[in-house]
Amino acid sequence: MSYPRLIINLEKIYQNAYTLQKICEKNDIELVGVTKLVLGDPQIAQVLKEAGINKLGDSRLINIKKMIKNKISGPFQLLRIPMISELEEVIKYVDEILVSEIETAIIIEELAKKYDKNIQIIFMIDVGDLREGLWYEDAPKKIEKLAQKLKTAKLRGIGTNLGCFGGVLPTVDNMNLMIEIKKYLEEKLGKELIISGGNTVALNLLETGNLPKGINQFRVGEALLLGTDATGHRDIPYLSQDTVILESEIIEIDYKPSVPVGEIGRDSMGRIPHFEDKGWRKRAILAMGEQDIDPRGLKPFDEKLEILHASSDHTIVDISDSENDYSLGNIIRFHMSYGCALRAFTSPYVEKIYK
Ligand SMILES: *Cc1c(COP(=O)(O)O)cnc(C)c1O
Repeated sequence: MSYPRLIINLEKIYQNAYTLQKICEKNDIELVGVTKLVLGDPQIAQVLKEAGINKLGDSRLINIKKMIKNKISGPFQLLRIPMISELEEVIKYVDEILVSEIETAIIIEELAKKYDKNIQIIFMIDVGDLREGLWYEDAPKKIEKLAQKLKTAKLRGIGTNLGCFGGVLPTVDNMNLMIEIKKYLEEKLGKELIISGGNTVALNLLETGNLPKGINQFRVGEALLLGTDATGHRDIPYLSQDTVILESEIIEIDYKPSVPVGEIGRDSMGRIPHFEDKGWRKRAILAMGEQDIDPRGLKPFDEKLEILHASSDHTIVDISDSENDYSLGNIIRFHMSYGCALRAFTSPYVEKIYK
């Protein structure tokens, strides 16, 4: 047994996946299960499939290849707009691809022809968040022109991503913008298109009945795997947040002043630390740090704990107010934010245990 470790509850992930799949089904929305947070973990991918999610999406080709190698069946969607240098491989492994550059789409068409593969393209449109996508004002004409050049590759629809760079929320307005562009293109091209309308944060529109009709694909990771919505800043009430739990071991407990003694420079991460003088406090040091977790995203089960600081290998917790009598070697448990979980799943120092 080694710490820190993640306890991954496959049953709870299954429940989340099943719940979301049913909600999407009822609303004629194709749910893409996004596996990038867990690096394309085959056991978790398998659970998503068993819960009825047909298509899996990942931002990294290496994760998609890992899933295929471990006998996870597709179809697979590549979420990150591709590098030109990876396209030749992308064509072999991926069934659907998000694209935001006309030039990239043209190369995909050439490769699709070469390998005789009807790869599906979802063209990304930026409706304001300022990450990927053609700016919405230019998109209709440019995509129309491109679609006429696609023969083997197919334009399946348009997509948008929100809440990732600018923190822009999905709204009736920006969703309606997508619908207008889709209608324009359908008329010009004489074929039906889909709208891939977003990620976890867009679930809110669906729940409140405000999602405009015609948004028919959701690409969801965080809600499935953590039951949370970082951009919307909430726990999703009908999903479980006990899907993944972080455990970490105490390696020192001592009383120390709350303000350091000596001249203050910067901390090990180049930050200027701030301290509030609360007198002498009882503190625990945990054997995990910035190389394993993001201290800002730690949510202790024991709500009386206060995370003070972390350096690369140590996390300092104020345990003075806790009702628990912690001792050396005890384990402290946490829920994690998306950002913290991302680091924990990616860290080779964090053991992964499946339940
Ligand atoms: C990560 C990602 C998603 C999934 O986002 P969640 O917030 O985890 O649901 C969807 N689409 C794209 C393009 C992504 O990169």
